[in-house]
Amino acid sequence: MDQEVPLALQSASDAVYVGSFDPPTLGHLDIIRRGSLLFQTLTVGIGFNPDKQTLFTPDERVELVRRMTSELPNVCVESFEGLSVTFAESRQAQVLLRGVRTVSDIELEFTMALTNRTLAPDMETVFLMASEKYSHVSSTLIRQIARMGQGSLEGKLQEFVPQCVITPLLSRVRGTG
Ligand code: ADP
Repeated sequence: MDQEVPLALQSASDAVYVGSFDPPTLGHLDIIRRGSLLFQTLTVGIGFNPDKQTLFTPDERVELVRRMTSELPNVCVESFEGLSVTFAESRQAQVLLRGVRTVSDIELEFTMALTNRTLAPDMETVFLMASEKYSHVSSTLIRQIARMGQGSLEGKLQEFVPQCVITPLLSRVRGTG
């Protein structure tokens, strides 16, 4: 067969997974775990956008994602500023890994992937479908639950975020940390 295999996939050994991770969720962790099995190395890139207000600083998000991925030896976590493709190239990655939950995610991700392909033709975007269990989980939803939830939230939050994220999240929304 004479089919041309995209350059990125001939040797797709290193990938980056970028996002805001504000806060990191069980949905993110699921994509990181599955991605770490597909690629030789997976770098999680925490995007820093000075114009965007976030609950956690980039350094805090790096620390949270490091904690929750500490048992995955081929995963490393860094923050970055600027374009995802530039960050991926600086890490010698051939693949941008993304997760998709819904049809509306796909629309947005498709536009982003096409733009990234124009910027970096050799970079391939690979999508993993969200696991059924986490397809409704988003950082926005979790920030709302943490801010507006009444009473003891620990038990409820553990359905959405890794254990190590619960205390920092509650402290932050309650203004105690
Ligand atoms: P962004 O600001 O780039 O959307 P996010 O932190 O929200 O950053 O998401 C980063 C990536 O993780 C995106 O590809 C997003 O679609 C994916 N993602 C977010 N939540 C989930 C989930 N529950 N399951 C699978 N993928 C997810």
